[in-house]
Amino acid sequence: MDAEYILNSATFRERWGLLDFLEACRARGVQKAGLWGDDIKKVGVAKASSLLADYEVEAFGYNRAGPLLASDASDRRKLLAMAKNEIDHAVSVGADHILVFPGGLEPDSKDLASARLQTVDAIGILHEHAQKVGMNLALEPLHPMLCGDRTCITTLRHANDICAQFAGKNIGVVIDTYHVWWDETIESEIARSALESRILSFHVNDWLVPTTHLLTDRGMMGDGIIDLHGIWKCVKATGYNGPVEVEIFSERWWSEDPDMVFDMALERCRQIFG
Ligand code: ZN
Repeated sequence: MDAEYILNSATFRERWGLLDFLEACRARGVQKAGLWGDDIKKVGVAKASSLLADYEVEAFGYNRAGPLLASDASDRRKLLAMAKNEIDHAVSVGADHILVFPGGLEPDSKDLASARLQTVDAIGILHEHAQKVGMNLALEPLHPMLCGDRTCITTLRHANDICAQFAGKNIGVVIDTYHVWWDETIESEIARSALESRILSFHVNDWLVPTTHLLTDRGMMGDGIIDLHGIWKCVKATGYNGPVEVEIFSERWWSEDPDMVFDMALERCRQIFG
């Protein structure tokens, strides 16, 4: 059976608000969506929840909790309070999981080891809250080029190691092909994630050569060099039966007709993951 293909709203960030996006999902029978807190807050959490119900679209991933790191203890407390609030929003809209991005180094710091320790502490605090309210924390390793400002979790191995430190449920990983395709341990780490039933989502896009921007030059699936089918085979072989989630941050694709981009993304998914 074909996988379920869903879109992350960031793929249309410059073009559509929540309502347009949900209309596009419903028109194509797409029943789940990756959502950004910014889009939800523009209409309000209560209104967003009722729109999701009206359009019969379930919130899947919710972006995001974080940043979490600060050199000052009172700043850290504030950031953690904001992150807990985001977890509550994710619960309110019925999301399956919330993405956690702790942030990179402080502007005046070169101490990556300490940032990593602080990350684990902060995730521990959020995990307690997540367990209380019944939300899954999703650790998504990002490409190491983003280690300085987005997250010090840059490999699936590190994300798995952090998950292993916490007893109980409500913590897992998101595997985004853009961020992990280069990693020589990816197959064994995917298997390790699956052993503990930790794979919460599988994000797809492609790596273009040359890449012209660290954040906003992701490719449409099939236009780049990632062995998407190969990585998907590994994920699928673990028994993962969640959706394939398209997430393309791209000035190029934001400039195109969003309906065309949506249709093309679904078609590419059928060709590559079907
Ligand atoms: Zn992603």
